[in-house]
Amino acid sequence: DYIEEISKDHGSADIKDIVKQLVGATLNLKQRGEQMSARLDESRKEIDKLRENLQQATEQAERDGLTGLFNRRSFERMLEEIMAASQEPRSELSLIMLDVDHFKKFNDTYGHLMGDEVLKIVARTLIESVKGRDIVARFGGEEFVVILPATPLEGGMRVAEAIRQSIASKSLKRKDTGEIFGQITVSLGVAGYRHSIDDIPKLIKRADDALYQSKRLGRNRVTREGA
Ligand code: GH3
Ligand code: MG
Ligand code: MG
Repeated sequence: DYIEEISKDHGSADIKDIVKQLVGATLNLKQRGEQMSARLDESRKEIDKLRENLQQATEQAERDGLTGLFNRRSFERMLEEIMAASQEPRSELSLIMLDVDHFKKFNDTYGHLMGDEVLKIVARTLIESVKGRDIVARFGGEEFVVILPATPLEGGMRVAEAIRQSIASKSLKRKDTGEIFGQITVSLGVAGYRHSIDDIPKLIKRADDALYQSKRLGRNRVTREGA
């Protein structure tokens, strides 16, 4: 509009006026641009915050609230992935199932909150007993699982035995009163992945059967599948 105005024949007074209006319009435009850019900055910050929240929520959905270990759902997803990865190139894979012995009695004697503390100690011991690529998860209640990629059954048995000893050797003491709880023990079962035969339920069942054999034989022990 201003260009059209200027190209008409004007006196210098008119031009001055037009320039004044032009400057005004430009300043207005500049201000709007600045407002827009400030709003864009705000939106960007908001998106960053949402992205962070989403990541936190995703992480939380994968974890067990009490122990911080992976939960059952993410355990099964990861086991599926690890089973698939162990096909080509072919590598061994073993699975440990573990259940705290006489845990109901512990809860009944010392209370559920103390029971929760024990579950946290078991979780920490498991994490300390495995290597970086191994996966520890809470299967449910007082049951835990460990996935050992690139580990034959024999190796799985060794890890399981180390876990058993490590937990049994802990003397649990109440922080506030110093009261000694005595010993906590776990029973374990170990199974090895059978390529192209196994699916998740089959593998878990063999480890679980072995675990129950450990219970039958008196608890605080490790049993291999089929034994
Ligand atoms: P067994 O040696 O045969 O495994 O005996 P158990 O008493 O450990 O087995 P049972 O299945 O009878 O009881 C499991 C107990 O685990 C009962 C339940 O209250 C307790 N439990 C499960 N989840 C939690 C939890 O999150 N916190 C606490 N404190 N206890 C739990
Ligand atoms: Mg149980
Ligand atoms: Mg139990």
